[in-house]
Amino acid sequence: MAKEYREKPPSSSNMRAQLSRIIYFYAGDVKGKPDDDVRRVLIINLFASVGILFTLPLGIVALLQQKLLLGAVLIATAFLYMINHVYLRHTHNHKISGHFVIYPLYALILYLIYSGGVNGTGHVWLFCVPAVALFLHGLKKGLIELAIFTGLLVLMFYTDGPFSSYDYPPSFRSRILFAFAVVVFLSGIYEFSMSHFNHELKVTSAKLKLMANTDMLTNLFNRRGMYQELEKCPKAYLLLADVDFFKRVNDEYGHDAGDYSLKAIAEIVKAELPDSALASRWGGEEFLFAVFDVTKQQAFNIAEALREAVAQHEFCYQDQRFHVTLSFGVAGMDNKISLREAISLADSRLYSAKRAGRNQTRHG
Ligand code: GH3
Ligand code: MG
Ligand code: MG
Repeated sequence: MAKEYREKPPSSSNMRAQLSRIIYFYAGDVKGKPDDDVRRVLIINLFASVGILFTLPLGIVALLQQKLLLGAVLIATAFLYMINHVYLRHTHNHKISGHFVIYPLYALILYLIYSGGVNGTGHVWLFCVPAVALFLHGLKKGLIELAIFTGLLVLMFYTDGPFSSYDYPPSFRSRILFAFAVVVFLSGIYEFSMSHFNHELKVTSAKLKLMANTDMLTNLFNRRGMYQELEKCPKAYLLLADVDFFKRVNDEYGHDAGDYSLKAIAEIVKAELPDSALASRWGGEEFLFAVFDVTKQQAFNIAEALREAVAQHEFCYQDQRFHVTLSFGVAGMDNKISLREAISLADSRLYSAKRAGRNQTRHG
């Protein structure tokens, strides 16, 4: 039996490498750029590439056919798109760059229809306009521009004088306009459903992100959310707090009273902490706070203020009144002490505070 030779499917890492090469070619350095920004740059550059691919050869053909003006217009458009590609790669300014794609396109298509293009075929390029206009300028602005554009087409087709175009047969003109209107309508519906879908997707993904990083009981960051936030900060003081004898609260007043006191502690500390601080429920009855632009002494004072505020609060759950205290361990993180090291230091200081009798703060 003859051996079958099949080409190996490209591995996913190969495909990713290829994709990143394509992205690099079209969008330049994308490090740190938002996804939506990269996507827009990529698509506008792909539009521009398609523009170059269709204007450059047609321009050369027009020149060869001695249609000098048409050739010059097409080749100038191709150059404009090339410059736009370089500009966009370097600046990522897709708004300005989008104008440099769509306005020359409107002008070029109007010129092609006006002049008839090569052998009266100028109008065939008309149908790429709606999709590009609606993508670049969105539904509202895109439709307004397309309405103006259609008005100019009508002016060219049905008036005599400076605006009148190449002599298309009358039945041709109405069919071109009708087909164009159908494409605008279909592209509009598509753009409407896509923008609606994108909006829903953005809202849902923002909600999911919030849920993934938030503690449901206290509404503070959860451990994952806090870690993500802290990883962005080069310098901070970390205040790690643990509720003292929390098991007793649960045992004496019930688990719901325990939950209620965790929520109440979160409210108390939120009111006490500086606005720039971060607050999280680090686990069970442990909280981690981060304060910025403060000295070691100020960080200690903040921890003490939180500790005292909680200690002085009278918790009241279903007519049961009780007090709760916190112990704190404080540690700084900076370019010498990593986040993990600072957390571990704060944890061992918290442990010292517990051993020393609880309801106190320890720092280095
Ligand atoms: P220590 O002063 O040494 O910290 O004593 P502790 O009793 O607070 O410490 P321990 O680790 O023995 O107990 C912690 C308790 O916290 C046990 C657990 O049931 C309770 N806990 C953890 N998460 C929750 C929660 O979400 N709700 C309630 N109600 N209790 C919780
Ligand atoms: Mg505890
Ligand atoms: Mg604990």
